[in-house]
Amino acid sequence: QVSLKLINVSKVFKDFKGNEVRAVDNVSFDVQPGEFVTLLGPSGCGKTTTLRMIAGFEKPTDGMILINNVNVVEIPPWKRDTAMVFQSYGLFPHMNVAENIAYGLKMRKVPPSDIEKKVKNILKVVGLEGYGDRPPSSLSGGQQQRVALARALVVEPSVLLFDEPLSNLDVLLREQMRIEIKRIQKEVGITAIYVTHDRTEALTLSDKIVLMKGGKIEQIGSPEEIYEKPVSKFAAEFMGKINFFPVEIVERLEDRTVIKLNGQVYTIPSLPTSKSEKYVLGCRPEGLKIASKGPVKGVIKTIVYLGNFSEYYIDTEFGEVMVKVLPPFDTTLSEGKEVHIDIVPEIAKIIQE
Ligand code: ADP
Ligand code: MG
Repeated sequence: QVSLKLINVSKVFKDFKGNEVRAVDNVSFDVQPGEFVTLLGPSGCGKTTTLRMIAGFEKPTDGMILINNVNVVEIPPWKRDTAMVFQSYGLFPHMNVAENIAYGLKMRKVPPSDIEKKVKNILKVVGLEGYGDRPPSSLSGGQQQRVALARALVVEPSVLLFDEPLSNLDVLLREQMRIEIKRIQKEVGITAIYVTHDRTEALTLSDKIVLMKGGKIEQIGSPEEIYEKPVSKFAAEFMGKINFFPVEIVERLEDRTVIKLNGQVYTIPSLPTSKSEKYVLGCRPEGLKIASKGPVKGVIKTIVYLGNFSEYYIDTEFGEVMVKVLPPFDTTLSEGKEVHIDIVPEIAKIIQE
């Protein structure tokens, strides 16, 4: 198992007009041996470029990439001991499943008897025992993605890199494969970096999330840390629906903060990150409740019934607010009704504007 470290890595491209594009801007993070790290962020934020620099397909304009404390920026991809799984599976159509998986081993001049053993074993790991003779075209999308994963795993790379490997699969398969990938990565005990724009994938898979925005790192943390303690409105919104309210900070205590929302006083566990900044109060839909009393008044605009919970969209003086309501549902609450909204102070957050 290996560790990986990026230190002040930047990549500047020239666009077709010759203008400089800073695709990756001074990015630093580290990956512990066996850790599963996700690069998460909107399209164009520099995730793929970062991954390609780790693989060696792009050379950083600045900075260092250390694999087991050795700077690899001058080392070509095939000598880096990394393997990549792509969104388009990239299987060879004229080879059967076993031949596809064996390809990298042949290139590395592994003896044929060892190849056979390794291929058989890895097919078992990805749940495709007995599929070796089939052409890739006879497999479902999910099965093809597993072959692609097996092909990357079989060469026993030190670092496994994924670039949005599930985006071509339908929703159900994506959920299944998400759990499969996590299981296999833990079973093989490999260090992995996974690129996605999908927060659910990032939350499910990651030991650590590196959230990116405009080529820069916005926040690094465990899924819980980023979801529960976002450092910015961007981070809070990227991790899931959240409502913002203007807030007055009354008093900062050691481990909690006294705040005022529309005149009502609460003590919440969240702490402001610095003294001079502007803040808002952030409440996830599950952190609000509809009540007969409460600091925010509004009118129910839409109720969306989703079976195990409902979403209430409420017009307020602070804009539209979404409240998640669990059963049993109050049948007196209907569209057009005037209600109050109260916060659940335990999970309310102070967020930097
Ligand atoms: P992501 O994977 O997060 O969607 P990318 O790393 O692919 O983002 O791209 C980041 C930025 O760099 C984008 O603005 C993209 O247009 C630009 N970019 C990526 N590759 C090149 C390239 N080879 N030449 C010029 N610009 C590029
Ligand atoms: Mg990309």
